[in-house]
Amino acid sequence: MNEAIVYLNGAFVPLAEARIPVLDRGFIFGDGVYEVVPVYAGRPFRLTQHLQRLARSLAAIGIDNPFDEAGWRGLIGDLVDRHTWPNQFVYLQVTRGVARRDHAFPKGITPTVFAMSSEFTIPPAAQREQGVSAITAPDERWLHCDIKSVSLLGNVLAKQSAVEAGAAECLMFRDGMLTEGSSSNIWVVRGGRVLGAPVNHLVLEGIRVGLLGELCERCGLDYELRRIPREEVLAADELMLTSATREILPITRLDGAPVGSGRPGPVYQRLIEAYQAATREA
Ligand code: PMP
Repeated sequence: MNEAIVYLNGAFVPLAEARIPVLDRGFIFGDGVYEVVPVYAGRPFRLTQHLQRLARSLAAIGIDNPFDEAGWRGLIGDLVDRHTWPNQFVYLQVTRGVARRDHAFPKGITPTVFAMSSEFTIPPAAQREQGVSAITAPDERWLHCDIKSVSLLGNVLAKQSAVEAGAAECLMFRDGMLTEGSSSNIWVVRGGRVLGAPVNHLVLEGIRVGLLGELCERCGLDYELRRIPREEVLAADELMLTSATREILPITRLDGAPVGSGRPGPVYQRLIEAYQAATREA
């Protein structure tokens, strides 16, 4: 079946047959990292940047990168070609490997490498036209949110609190300052300027963070990454989220109250058009 072929440790196998040992440290400790790469019309989008971030995440936790850039590109191309959907998203995961349970890094083990592709359903027009709801919550995660780690419990709990409130995302704040969404970066529009949180250890540097800067430049919009107090978020003219799978979405309700006019704003409209053009050009 189309969706069911995955890559695991050197072989392409049906998803239902892919197995890892229970002592894999990804399972036992969440000791691994991952990536999600969107694929448009069969072509991975911003792959260089995704592979650079994967290399940084691996280096940050002391796992040797199992492939060089050409190796990853070959693997991803092979995986994408095994599926017929024009738009896909490729999930990559590398864990430290399998060893007797002990917190310290075991010596001489081989990382587990897993990759799968899923159909990428671009956010529906209704979501773009109406926007989505979000809630706010304290950021209760650790202090290395820049590492794209599979240890996602803090993000999982934040997303669940959003879902239970009937919302699509949870905006998190640390010491009164905006960090990010549970699975997205967050953007505040005030007076025509696009503001995002600084890139540091408190947020994941989304591949769309740099991309949004480029798109703002193309659109003649001011773009700035700086500390954003909660009050500024609550007073936003527009709010947006970005991620590989949700592209750019307008947030039109926050904690039950309308954001700005309560409708997707003009800055969103310009940026999503520029984004879609960029995915077509790539
Ligand atoms: N922050 C978090 C916590 C995320 O999970 C994601 C989605 N991967 C992002 C930001 C956005 O990153 P990207 O633009 O690379 O998808």
